[in-house]
Amino acid sequence: MSQPAPAAEPVKTRSPARRRAAAGGVAATALLAAAGYAGPAITSWPRLRARLLPGLAGIGRPDHIALTFDDGPDLVSTPAFLEALAASGTRATFFLLGSMLVKAPELGRELVAAGHEVAVHGWEHRYTTFRAPGALYDDVARTRDLIGDVTGRRPVFFRPPYGVLSAGSLSVARRLGLRTVLWTAWGRDWEERATPRSVLATVTRDLAGGGTVLLHDSDCTSAPRAWHSALGALPMLLDECAGRGLRVGPLAEHFAAAGPGGSSR
Ligand SMILES: [Zn+2]
Repeated sequence: MSQPAPAAEPVKTRSPARRRAAAGGVAATALLAAAGYAGPAITSWPRLRARLLPGLAGIGRPDHIALTFDDGPDLVSTPAFLEALAASGTRATFFLLGSMLVKAPELGRELVAAGHEVAVHGWEHRYTTFRAPGALYDDVARTRDLIGDVTGRRPVFFRPPYGVLSAGSLSVARRLGLRTVLWTAWGRDWEERATPRSVLATVTRDLAGGGTVLLHDSDCTSAPRAWHSALGALPMLLDECAGRGLRVGPLAEHFAAAGPGGSSR
């Protein structure tokens, strides 16, 4: 699973955000190395991950929930999410696939115009674990560059497909100045059997202040029309957060003033 580390960026050129990203990546890489082959398994379990690697899991301000969507932008489904988020005045982070954005650049611009944050999910939706180092670097770099070119926003965050980490993906993210963030609660909204109620129940099981929620605004990698369950759950989830006094927003807001590393609590 490990891949040769690319040449390190000179420390003196790094911004504070990049230094934090690098520090988080080093810690996660060390854990992966210590865990050996168990690494991807450990980092795939949200509860264990939140305890061992809070920054990587997306633990931020305790009064805040980061709302994140993966796999878009999708011309079929993303506009409905934009509408629902606009109706509630909620902003979120969208982890984009380059292969989707290239087909819907205008939608990428709409996301940014609506105040949402855009981040890197990768060009292809493939496990990073077994990819050749050069191919993985090109995949992530190409996506980062496309997002920047299309939206005018330079992405800060990266989430590998399936949330499965590898030493190679952490190294690539660090080299590209991206901070890797997974999640603390998901909705299993990609499953064919998922319903709005099941998604809400699954998310709320692990919902806690400071957490990061994963949903999907596209079914391009999951069961056809699976996005309807996430969309249906969204208003109920926002109500749940409001009822608990938790503010919902994008990752940049989530990590603002969260202390060193953006994740300490
Ligand atoms: Zn994905």
